Amino acid sequence: METKPKGTYDVLPNEVLLWQNIESKIREVCKLCNYEEIRTPIFENAKVFHRDEKDSSDMVNKETYDFLDRGQRLMTLRPEGTAGVVRAYIENKLYVTNDVCKLYYLGPMFRYERPQKGRYRQFSQFGIEAIGSDSYMLDVDVINVAILLFKKLGLKGLRVRINTLGDKESRLNYREALVNYFSDKIDNLCSDCKNRLENNPLRILDCKVDKDNPILLNAPKIKDYLNEVSVKHFQNVLALLKELNIDYIVDERLVRGLDYYSHTVFEIEYNSSEMGNQNIICGGGRYSDLVSDLGGPVKPACGLAFGLDRLIQVLKMENNNLEVNNSLDCFVITLGEKASFKAQKIINNLRLAGISCDGDFNNKSLKAQFKIADSYNSHFTLILGEDELEKGVIRVKNNVNDSQEEVNLVNLVNYLKEESNEESTN
Ligand code: AMP
Repeated sequence: METKPKGTYDVLPNEVLLWQNIESKIREVCKLCNYEEIRTPIFENAKVFHRDEKDSSDMVNKETYDFLDRGQRLMTLRPEGTAGVVRAYIENKLYVTNDVCKLYYLGPMFRYERPQKGRYRQFSQFGIEAIGSDSYMLDVDVINVAILLFKKLGLKGLRVRINTLGDKESRLNYREALVNYFSDKIDNLCSDCKNRLENNPLRILDCKVDKDNPILLNAPKIKDYLNEVSVKHFQNVLALLKELNIDYIVDERLVRGLDYYSHTVFEIEYNSSEMGNQNIICGGGRYSDLVSDLGGPVKPACGLAFGLDRLIQVLKMENNNLEVNNSLDCFVITLGEKASFKAQKIINNLRLAGISCDGDFNNKSLKAQFKIADSYNSHFTLILGEDELEKGVIRVKNNVNDSQEEVNLVNLVNYLKEESNEESTN
């Protein structure tokens, strides 16, 4: 027997309902906030993600699924959504028709990580990208999509952690301060941090191995290296969050895993010991140079990404009953070959009339067919035997009120619709 690849999972039909429900809530919130859906390929030319040899993020360096296609082109399965969306934004010149282009995506991402609860090699993300303004208001517009979604899903116990990385000038000053500070201490930090010191010392602050090491705790703080523009931007973001009653805490050590962020960065975490280290369900921030780095015009942008798998885990922990009704309207039980044949015509007519319906395919016994009808939670069970066939009728058992009636086949659709209407108005 073949099994699923390590770090992947199957979403079985009963769980898919929950996913579909969340996806429809995501679409509703995006519509409210004027974000439009974009669908980009699951794989891109490797360069879209591997832009810079000096990129220090684990995700880009160690975790991508890279492969040569049969034409010897180097491809990468997307590990995140932003780079592909920005590539599509530039290639399709969306900046010509949109002043601020507000996009969202939903779909699988791939990272070769060590699998554990809440961390997979194929996982699902919902993300938004708002491209074309450096206004602090856009940062808050993005964060607010997450907050509105939590409200719609009825989620509590979530917290926005926010920080600023400042603009390029501030980051360069800060970078220098970090290099000075860490240079004579680096031997006491993990081996990854040694590489980070050279490529992106900010990421040392994000180190999971040394997170409680006093060397990290006492490192210089970005807030002391921000220039005026950066301070103002961050203050404005915080003031507007407050104005919109969005709770947050400033976390000076938050730097985020990707190298392209500037100014605002944030994460949304769920407070639960059950989720351990995997309690970050959403992360995002502002990125000023990614569009131009990928060959587009200078367009500052901001975005976020949610892990849907973790979001679902949280919903389950909070016992949010988001599953939609999946019962079947009718199940047709037949006796004999002739009735079975005729039942297919009846089933088809019901389906054409918008009534969900199914029947037996395996010549099961009467008892077994009743069991199947039960397993589908069918509203009506329709019974068709030789007698009914001759009379041009069908026996209708209403499983909600337990009544039974013989109904002329000509009137069946109307009868079922009236019965259902009556029940929903009662
Ligand atoms: P990132 O793109 O790393 O900022 O991740 C954004 C969100 O995606 C995280 O907050 C997680 O909720 C989710 N996520 C990232 N990596 C994984 C993974 N390997 N498995 C499941 N969810 C993930």
